[in-house]
Amino acid sequence: MTNDRESTAAPIETAASHFIKDIVLEDNASGKFGGRVCTRFPPEPNGYLHIGHAKSICLNFGLAEEFGGRCNLRMDDTNPTKEEDEYVRSIQEDVRWLGFDWDDRLFYASDYFGQLYAWAEQLIEAGKAYVDDLSADEIRAHRGTLTEPGRQSPYRDRSPAENLDLFRRMRAGEFPDGSRVLRAKIDMASPNVNLRDPVMYRILRATHHRTGDQWCIYPMYDYAHGQSDSIEGITHSVCTLEFEDHRPLYDWFCDALGIYHPRQIEFARLNLTFTMMSKRRLLDLVQQRLVVGWDDPRMPTLSGLRRRGYTPEALRDFCSRIGVAKRDSTVDLALLEHCLREDLNRRAPRVMAVLRPLRVVLTNYPEGRVEELEAVNNPEDTAAGTRKVPFSRVLYIERDDFREDPPKKFFRLAPGREVRLRYAYFIKCEEVVKDAAGEVVELRCTYDAATLGGDAPDGRKVKATIHWVSAAHAVEAEVRLYDRLFTVPNPAAEEDWVATLNPASLETLVGCRLEPSLSAASPGERFQFERLGYFCADPDASSGRPVFNRTVTLKDQWAKIEAKG
Ligand code: ATP
Ligand code: MG
Repeated sequence: MTNDRESTAAPIETAASHFIKDIVLEDNASGKFGGRVCTRFPPEPNGYLHIGHAKSICLNFGLAEEFGGRCNLRMDDTNPTKEEDEYVRSIQEDVRWLGFDWDDRLFYASDYFGQLYAWAEQLIEAGKAYVDDLSADEIRAHRGTLTEPGRQSPYRDRSPAENLDLFRRMRAGEFPDGSRVLRAKIDMASPNVNLRDPVMYRILRATHHRTGDQWCIYPMYDYAHGQSDSIEGITHSVCTLEFEDHRPLYDWFCDALGIYHPRQIEFARLNLTFTMMSKRRLLDLVQQRLVVGWDDPRMPTLSGLRRRGYTPEALRDFCSRIGVAKRDSTVDLALLEHCLREDLNRRAPRVMAVLRPLRVVLTNYPEGRVEELEAVNNPEDTAAGTRKVPFSRVLYIERDDFREDPPKKFFRLAPGREVRLRYAYFIKCEEVVKDAAGEVVELRCTYDAATLGGDAPDGRKVKATIHWVSAAHAVEAEVRLYDRLFTVPNPAAEEDWVATLNPASLETLVGCRLEPSLSAASPGERFQFERLGYFCADPDASSGRPVFNRTVTLKDQWAKIEAKG
């Protein structure tokens, strides 16, 4: 079964205006960059992308799309001890999956190591950088605080010639790791600590995922980032708020080198309730095996969300609805789920699936007879058509849809009571069969042949319609019910955040029975299991049976719980 309606997705809402668009419009009006718009998405390949990155991806690629510009994908790979090719590959897959294209503009900060080195020599020769022999601890101790100025290093006034010689020998591998650094010579008394002679290069013997052992000195983020933007001709370098205090340094390097100068603009990062967003913590979850992997359907990673059944359209819609602001805030996870439900409601084919089966025998239905009944694929989409679902004497219904002793507002099946089977007949429960332990194992019912797909000719009413599958035709499957990974709205604020993991974040059901059309579902295909929620076929084939992940319930069940609590 292929999900060809995927391509007829509703158009993404055009995003509202925001302050970054206003800046771009102003710059275009003043001719600051000659009307050019070039942005970039610059992940560090030290983990998988998460939903916070999606906000940045949508923003950067979205600006380029809207203004007829370009957006580059750049791996910010200046930290060889934490970076891996696996991450580089996953990042590309995730950006593409979200629906964005960098054409041939995949770049690496490590491509610029040679140029960055040459520029460092240029700054040394201009008396704007020096080699410092202080240890990392001593440098920290000299840095001062927010209220006290820093102190100058005793090595600060080395001559350019001496600095150049030492820097070249740093590169040549003459000194041990951590023994010396190259620092920018700016201002140890600056109220902005980022300008107190920041480190530009460190000695580090580590094999880089791309440059191997070619380098034993590596540039720091602040020295590499703006210059990479400059090399690529970026016009608007959009980053998150924590870099606001780094902007004077970004500007200082470009000015001191006299190179093309992009404009850095900061926006508030996405925070989401019940979600951990830091890559370091996500890595902890993976390494401590608290989840199955980076693509565990409970993870906020794009690969996890994809495996859970999220659509790229829902994520893009979400990113456009949350907007772009200058002040930090936290978005309710319920909004993300709302966007998902809206998209899936439009597009996901409906099917019948019984998660906790209870056997029903229709005693007056002929043995061996099979009817192919017509079922609607998607009431929201007439083009989706209908399909045939087999009906026979032995069925499964949901265990929850029967109560031997029904409470007041329970209108589904009970002894002596009649309900409608979706797309089929009225059935009436005549007898309850139990095992030796007293558990209900089978219902013996009668069906009314005059009620196929409609009402009873005598006008008699039923108060519930339930779903079913034909026992002989059903596909047996495993279904994984996922829920929030954390029990508290802001797990990152908890000292013992591991203790806030939701013990019920995964419930695995085996022996589920699905209508036969689902035997052809391919991994990633999404469905609405009628009355139960949205589900997505999982790639895991290890059990020999299909596996489906619950993407999201039909309604926000937590809203009820929170309102009650
Ligand atoms: P983390 O803090 O989780 O390790 P990071 O910001 O260090 O993430 P990068 O790989 O450097 O990870 O991020 C790439 C880009 O994505 C950066 O421009 C960063 O500002 C942006 N980004 C990261 N997290 C978020 C977020 N929660 N909301 C919006 N943008 C984000
Ligand atoms: Mg970062």
